[in-house]
Amino acid sequence: MSINLKQSVKCPQCSQMSEVTVWSSITVKDSPDLKADLLSGKVNMFNCPSCSHFGLMPHPMLYHDEEKKLMISFSPTNDPVLKQQLFDNIRKTSAQSDELEKLVGYNLRFTADYNELLEKVLIFDNGFNDKAIEVIKLMVISGDIDKSEQRVCRFGKFENGEIEFMIHDFIENQLYTSTVPLQTYETVYNSLIESGMKNYSFDWEMVDSVYATRLLNGFNNNF
Ligand SMILES: [Zn+2]
Repeated sequence: MSINLKQSVKCPQCSQMSEVTVWSSITVKDSPDLKADLLSGKVNMFNCPSCSHFGLMPHPMLYHDEEKKLMISFSPTNDPVLKQQLFDNIRKTSAQSDELEKLVGYNLRFTADYNELLEKVLIFDNGFNDKAIEVIKLMVISGDIDKSEQRVCRFGKFENGEIEFMIHDFIENQLYTSTVPLQTYETVYNSLIESGMKNYSFDWEMVDSVYATRLLNGFNNNF
């Protein structure tokens, strides 16, 4: 079930009060339109009717796609320490309940970044596994090793047998694209599976570049 609440919000820029609908839960099966809004970046966004100030509401949200057996817990923060605490909390709370027993075969993801949330939805919608995609992103970004620190790579789309990645260079303020053939994905995915990676979760997971680096170093989620 998708759940929302209405909140009165004071604009941080012009102090005008306005009412915002905040979603705490999105269930894809019940709310396909809401999912479309999420993918276009409209969900939980504050948009001041008076001065057009724009920003993300600081509210957690749970995304649930029963068909794809995907659950993403999103808790927005830019603070890496708080992010780790929130992740530890969700694992702890989950272990204390019987939640994991009900979610057998699921991919369970935690993210603190709105763009990463949208990216994960897109990755699974296109039938890919985000762990293999994160490994390929590392390969893409290391193509220009001197600039890898100043670049963020995101899954863009899958078209004509090729996966397109978007690379944002925030020093040069440029957007690049890089395409990878489906075959590369299949090779990476199969070798990860052969090395013991499972395409489902045993617990909540934070699958990002740090995770992909650990995967490449031989760590798998079945240990
Ligand atoms: Zn305003």
